[in-house]
This record gives sequence, structure tokens and C-alpha cells, in this order.
Amino acid sequence: MNYEAHCRWMRQAITLANTAGVAKEVPVGAVVVDAQGNLVGAAENRRERDQDPTGHAEILALRQAAQTLGRWQLQDCTLYVTLEPCPMCSGAIIQARIGLVVYGADDPKTGAVRTVLNLPDSAASFHRLKVLGGILEADCRQQLQTWFVQHRQGSASQGSVGQSSASQESANHPSQTAHSGIRTPRTAPRSPAKQAENPQSQNQD
Ligand SMILES: [Zn+2]
Repeated sequence: MNYEAHCRWMRQAITLANTAGVAKEVPVGAVVVDAQGNLVGAAENRRERDQDPTGHAEILALRQAAQTLGRWQLQDCTLYVTLEPCPMCSGAIIQARIGLVVYGADDPKTGAVRTVLNLPDSAASFHRLKVLGGILEADCRQQLQTWFVQHRQGSASQGSVGQSSASQESANHPSQTAHSGIRTPRTAPRSPAKQAENPQSQNQD
């Protein structure tokens, strides 16, 4: 698919993200498109409304795509998402054998396909996932920033552009705050221990 097509689908994901934002959810949206260019899955973040820790846009869009196609292997599909997938969603994307992931804004806190971790290229991944980041990046980033200014003024002091998307996860995923603070993912053997310690120390503050 060409750049124009990527932008067109990303705009749909941005529209979905906006729906989430209006519903007081962190604005993240995702769509899944099959090889013929048909929309087979579309969802926005529903974690708050469903009180579901797995209710991220990517997970919901993958489920819908699998239902639409009647199969869980989606190797001929492309997933578009406004924010770089977190570890949970990256894992699900790999499980689904998605052919290509296209995302908008990097997530410097929990991005798990490039920015913090690179799960698709890690030893734990059996699936070679193609990733294309930065499509309509400014729009996606701005959407998150604007939402955080409106809904999370207290956490806006986190500062830089990328951090506002990071505060998304911090604000809504307290247990991931510490996790996302780990910036040395390549020290894999030590990470589990750190992850086990840090959430408690931060959550109980
Ligand atoms: Zn996620």
C-alpha cells in the first residue's frame, strides 16, 4: 500500500481515537485492513468504559478482524494505530501474525515495537513483523497532547511532547508506570526483577 493509503487509514484511526477522547478515554484508535483493502476491524480504547485492562484499541481491533475473517491468523492484514503499541498489544499483534503495523506517534514510555522495546525483533518473537512508524505523526501526537491538557492537567508537567503520550499509560496504568520507566530493555534478565519491585514502590506512594 502506498503512502496516501496509509494516511487515509490512519485518519480513520484518528477519528476513532477522537471518539475515545470524547468518552474520557485516552484517545487511541486502531483499524485492521485486509490485503484487498477492506476494513475488517476498527476500535478505539475502551478501557475505562469497559473497566477492562486489555481494552486497548489494538486488541479490540484484532479481535474484530479475526471475527470478520473467521480466522485468527492475520498475516495478510495491516494494523493501523495512532500510538505505538504497548507490550501487551505488541504481543497480541505478533500472535495474530499481522503482516504490517503502521503507527503514528512514538510512545517513549511503553512503546514496544521500536521506542522502548522491540518485541517483534526480539528472541521471544517467532514472527517477522514489518513496522512503519510516523504516519501522520504530528496529528496523532497533537491529539494525545491536547487530550492530556484537557483531562490530565496535573500530569501535564511531565513535559516533553512524547511524554504526554507516556503519561497516558502512567495515568491509566499505574502498574505500568514503573515498567515504562525502564529504559534499558536489553538487560532482559534483570528486567523482571525491576518490574516486580518498582510498581509497588510507585503505586503505594
Ligand atoms: Zn496496548
